[in-house]
Amino acid sequence: MDKMKRQSFMHGGPVPAKKAATGGHWSMKLLQSMEDPNMVVESDSLTVTIKDAFPKAKHHYLILPKESISSLSSLTAKHVSLLEHMDERGQSLTKQLTDKNPNLEFRQGYHAVPSMSQLHMHVISQDFDSICLKTKKHWNSFTSDFFIDSQQIIKMLKSQNKVEIDRGKYEALLKADLVCHRCKHNPKNMPALVQHINTHLSQQ
Ligand code: AMP
Ligand code: ZN
Repeated sequence: MDKMKRQSFMHGGPVPAKKAATGGHWSMKLLQSMEDPNMVVESDSLTVTIKDAFPKAKHHYLILPKESISSLSSLTAKHVSLLEHMDERGQSLTKQLTDKNPNLEFRQGYHAVPSMSQLHMHVISQDFDSICLKTKKHWNSFTSDFFIDSQQIIKMLKSQNKVEIDRGKYEALLKADLVCHRCKHNPKNMPALVQHINTHLSQQ
């Protein structure tokens, strides 16, 4: 590598996420979806919004930065404005969808311990009406404190200049008893939960 190229490699600023999209491991698949026209919903200079490939509700999207950022723990103070921008993208998407259907409710946030690489913010409707929602882990990851609201993450980053996650504490939440996010009922298993949340859907 000549001197000029080496310098731009070392000091060239953020690495675009798509440069890292070559890996075949399942945990890198979001990078591939960011480049798949069938998955991309919208994009701008900083972010790409994709459909979640296994939606856990009627409406489930992921908003990812174009800059390569592997997870919450890679964030520093310089990312505050990017996270605020991702939050705004989520709010704008939510508005588009709720303008069409005012009965929809959304949350936008991050899994404390994600399974997929490249930072991604979930934007998910709160009906949880989906055949892809199959396990206790799925349910608890979206309805317990394991799901951290985007605004909460921004607040943490602003106050501490980093996002610190106690993995043990959050992973324990995934094993907790099932609780309905609407009425705090405790269904005994996933089939009972699905039947129970259907009663809320029919009331809407
Ligand atoms: P997590 O890493 O736990 O925050 O969640 C990763 C999300 O990515 C899940 O909601 C998956 O359904 C979704 N997912 C998995 N593979 C893909 C893919 N290839 N393209 C889009 N979304 C995906
Ligand atoms: Zn309930």
